[in-house]
Order: sequence, then structure tokens, then C-alpha cells
Amino acid sequence: MIPFVDLKAQYQSIKPEIDAAVGRVLESSQFVLGPEVAAFEKQFAAYCQTRHAMGVNSGTSALHLALLAAGVGAGDEVITVSMTFVATAAAIAYVGARPVFVDVDPLSYTMDVNQIEAKITKRTKVIMPVHLYGQSADMDPIVELARRHGLVVIEDAAQAHGAEYRGKRVGSIGDLGCFSFYPGKNLGAYGEGGAITTDRDDLAKRIRMLRDWGQETKYHHVLLGFNYRMEGIQGAILGVKIKHIEDWNEARRRTAARYDSLLKGVVVPTQMDYARHVYHVYAVLAENRDEIATKLKDAGVATGIHYPIPVHLQECFAHLGYQRGDLPVTERVADMELSLPMFAELTQEQSHRVAAALAEIY
Ligand SMILES: *Cc1c(COP(=O)(O)O)cnc(C)c1O
Repeated sequence: MIPFVDLKAQYQSIKPEIDAAVGRVLESSQFVLGPEVAAFEKQFAAYCQTRHAMGVNSGTSALHLALLAAGVGAGDEVITVSMTFVATAAAIAYVGARPVFVDVDPLSYTMDVNQIEAKITKRTKVIMPVHLYGQSADMDPIVELARRHGLVVIEDAAQAHGAEYRGKRVGSIGDLGCFSFYPGKNLGAYGEGGAITTDRDDLAKRIRMLRDWGQETKYHHVLLGFNYRMEGIQGAILGVKIKHIEDWNEARRRTAARYDSLLKGVVVPTQMDYARHVYHVYAVLAENRDEIATKLKDAGVATGIHYPIPVHLQECFAHLGYQRGDLPVTERVADMELSLPMFAELTQEQSHRVAAALAEIY
């Protein structure tokens, strides 16, 4: 069986470094935040080309704190996409705001920048594009619109560590960037983790307080904060893994190029001319997606679907009043998308076998 992801293969490739890093945390017993997290934050900020990075306990917490720091609250609106993992919209709901969905571009599957302005109202506070599958949204028009209307831009970069837009790293283009270190992400912890990036000192300070019970100094709670701190062990592990992320992203890009040239019968992903795609997901579109997934499974190839039900049609967001047909491109992608095996350690031989299995079906 060719797995969809293989976390164990990656651990084996860096085991001595990881074991030593975890051992250091156990010996120091700095289990929450601490020097390993602080060191990783510096490395991650440099990697994202931002002044600040704040480690938190998940990508969802990163989104929640970014929205709070941007001053979003009850009655506000946040323009985002439905073609995403549910956390994007859930975080908006956590602060009492309303997610307002725009459709996605049919080539990039990221926010259709031509549909944003019509959705801006007096209540709009934030535009939140998602860098889906490892490819940046078209950021220049989004930032330009935000500046013109006095809005904050929060990038959901949970799937796109190291992706670039016109040579700039994602997370450094809007006001705030939100990352997830869920184990299966391009840069994954060995448990939950996340980070927020920003160039703005005021937002960074606020987020550092909010993630740690709103404390300015110990037991002095200035803000109503949260227990959203990154664990020491995760910081130490990420500090090791960030040294390898560029090699891993390049390996993903080589696999993607191989798939691009070998695959027949399906729509392969488009790398936009503005983008450096890092292929968190290698997403193909196929008319009879479910049937193909079953046949691939029978042929020993695991696949995924990201995501079968778009957020605007999820039961938990029924109260927003969206119907099937409201976001036709999003719904088409949700019906047709199939994710092929994609991870840095996937061998050339395995990618050829995936392509051969698909060719057999067609
Ligand atoms: C993974 C993901 C999140 C949530 O991150 P967690 O670390 O799982 O909380 C948010 N947005 C997107 C687009 C994601 O893929």
C-alpha cells in the first residue's frame, strides 16, 4: 500500500536530532513555552520573513487570537472562503463574528479576488484568504482592497509553510499570518501546535499576552486571555524540523512535477505565475472522483478528499443561510477533488506506481 502520508518515515530520517531535542526538554523540564519555543519562534519568524512569530497550541488558536488582536467581535463580518478546513470559519464564529463567503478562482481554488468588494459592508473588519493546498491566494489585490477600505488582512497559511507570492513568503504579506503545526502539515509537530506571524509590534505584544492568560507580568491579567501556549517539547521538535523544511518542500515540488507530467485523465493542479506552490495537498479533479478513489484503494494507493463538504454547506453553519448553488466553483471542487499521496519521503518509484494505477483506471 502507498500511504497518503508517512509520518514515521520522516521521524526515522531525523530520529537522533529529535530524540536529543526531546531529551533536552525532559532534562530542563521547561514543558510550557520556555527557551526551546522562544528559539523556534525566532527561526520561524526569519523563515516567514516577519519581525515576530508567536507559538501557540494549534492553528485554530492562531486564527482565534489573530482575529481577537485585530479587534474583531460580535456583529462584525469577516470575508473568507468556504473552500477550506472548517477551522477558518469556526475561529470567526468563536469571536462572535459572521463568516461571509466568496467563491474561489477556478484555477487556483483560492479566494476569487473579483468577488470581494461586493461583499464589503459597514460591518466588515477583516479579509481572511486561505493559501489552500500549499498555494498562496492572489494577495496584491486583496491587500490593496483592504487598505482602501480600512480592513485588516489575516492570512490562513495553515497549509502553506514556505509558500511564496511574488517572491514573498506567506504570513508576511497581510497584517497577520496563521500557521498550523498539526502533524500532517508541511511543518508538523508531534502533537498540536500553531503560530502567528506579524511585522506589527502592537499586534505581537497583544497576542503574546492573549495566549498566556492575558498576563502582562505574572498574575497581572490585563486582558481576558487563554491557555493557548505552545508546549516546550513541540517547540524543540519544530526547532529541529524547521532546518529541513526547505528540503522537504523541494521534495514535494519534485513529486508534484513528476505527477504533472505523468498523470492522464484528471485535471492536475495549476501553479499560478505569482506562486511558489509547496503542495501540502496534490489535488486533482476528476468527474467520478469517488469511484476512482475506490479503484485506487483496490490498486494499493491511499487517497484523501479535501474537502467533501464545503464549509457553507456544513450543518454547523446552516444558520448562516447558504444554499447549494451559492458558491458554484467551490461546490464543483468539493465534488471532484481527490488528493494523491504527497509527502517529502515519497519515492520516485512510488509516484510512478500512483500514476500507473491511475492510467490503468482510465
Ligand atoms: C489545519 C488547518 C487549520 C487548523 O489548524 P489546527 O492546527 O488543526 O488547529 C486551519 N486552517 C486550515 C486551512 C487548515 O488546513
